[in-house]
Parts: sequence; structure tokens; C-alpha cells
Amino acid sequence: MSPEEGAPQTGFDGRNVIIAIDGPAGAGKSTIARHLARHFGLLNLETGAMYRAFALKALRAEISLDDAAALQTLAAETSIRLEPGDEENRVLLDEEDVTGFIRNRTVTDAASKVSVFPPIRAWMVRLQQQLGADGGVVMEGRDIGTVVFPHADVKIFLDAAPEVRGLRRFEQMGPSPAIQPEEVIRELHARDERDRNRADSPLRPSSDAILLNSTDMTLDEAVAAAEAIVDERLSSPRTAGKGIR
Ligand code: C5P
Repeated sequence: MSPEEGAPQTGFDGRNVIIAIDGPAGAGKSTIARHLARHFGLLNLETGAMYRAFALKALRAEISLDDAAALQTLAAETSIRLEPGDEENRVLLDEEDVTGFIRNRTVTDAASKVSVFPPIRAWMVRLQQQLGADGGVVMEGRDIGTVVFPHADVKIFLDAAPEVRGLRRFEQMGPSPAIQPEEVIRELHARDERDRNRADSPLRPSSDAILLNSTDMTLDEAVAAAEAIVDERLSSPRTAGKGIR
């Protein structure tokens, strides 16, 4: 046995690590994922942006959002790429940069509708597995720990009370949004229900995910808690470097 073989695997080696961050909208996933990626020197991949880009294409093509067959045909002629950046991902839809067009309410609602269809999910999951295949990523979404990377090194399921999540979303909308906070909470609730109740890959924590409820935390506190979870997991010999299977 070489000296290395017997040595405990401690310390962080981020070369192929995969961190999965799942949870409902407004739980703080993006802020936390961005921070973890920076802190641990990983790429941050926002899978929601991919569903959003596809929803944008369906809206532009005026395809009914409940026409599964038409959406599947559209998917077959669509390319979606994510380019990780410091702040957010650059999203390329058929090589057009659509980053600035996918965060409005219409696309947000459409993304949650197109994401219920199994062929669309299967396509996205394949793309996401390819993106993360070399590891070194923080991937955030709804099904990363359950479906996309069930063997991720660290899985965090973030949650918070719906009112708290809705208010956070409202505050992110800037100084005088043309919408009431109650409306934001209502839309977020509708999206949650769809995500949690769809038949294929419903939003739920993987059995081995660490649950982090940020209801009574500031986002800074939630970020610090997530960092501590990752630190602890990655320094454990049992979990280090097991991301790729
Ligand atoms: O995370 P984000 O709010 O950008 O996601 C937009 C929508 O895409 C979600 O409401 C959800 O319906 C869908 N989604 C998904 N699976 C993922 C990421 C997002 O179903 N991994």
C-alpha cells in the first residue's frame, strides 16, 4: 500500500466536486449558489435559466404551453447553452444571448409550465449532466440532488416560509415595482404548487439532502450556514471527491 492510500482524505479538493442546491423560488438559492461557487472556486450553473430560455422560445413561437407534442418538437430544434459568469449565467438560446429577456413575470410563469413535461425534463437533465460532467460545479435548481446528480458530494435543500420568500422576491424587484407584494406571493405560491405536484421529478428534498430553512435568517446568515455545511461535508473522508459516478 502506498502512503497515500492509507492517508485520510481530508481538506477540500474541488477538482470534481458537485454541490447541488435545490429548493422553491425565493429561498435564496441563487445568492447562496453564487457565493459558494466564488468561495470554493467552482462554476455556478443555474438550471432554471435553461427552462426559462426554452419557455421564451415557446412564447415567441406562440406555442400553447400545454401542448406537449408541439413543445417536444420545438425542443428537438433548440440549443441552449449556459456560460457561467461572476454574477449570473449568460444564457444562449440558439446562440442568441437572451440573458436579459428571461427574468420577467411572463417567462417565469411559462418556465414553470413547460417544465412539467417529461420529454422536456429528460432533455434538460441530459444537458445539465453534460454541463456538470467534469465536476467543479455548484448546480442550482429543483431536481439536482434527486435526478440530475443523485451522487452529488453535497446536497442542500433550501426552504423558507412562502410569505418570506415572496417578500424577498418583491424587494429584489427594485424601488417601485408595478405589482403588490401580495401578488408576488400569490404567483410564487402557484409556481411552488406546480413544481411540487408535477408527476415527473417533483420538487422535494433528496433523502440525503441537508435541509436549510432560512425563514428566520438574513440572506447573509443563510449564506454562512450553507458555507459551513459545505465545509463540513467536504472535509469528511466519506464524502470527499465522490461527485462523478
Ligand atoms: O429557478 P428558476 O426560478 O429560474 O426556475 C424557473 C422554473 O423552472 C421553476 O419555476 C421550475 O418550474 C423550473 N425548474 C425546474 N427544474 C429545475 C430548475 C427550474 O423544473 N432544475
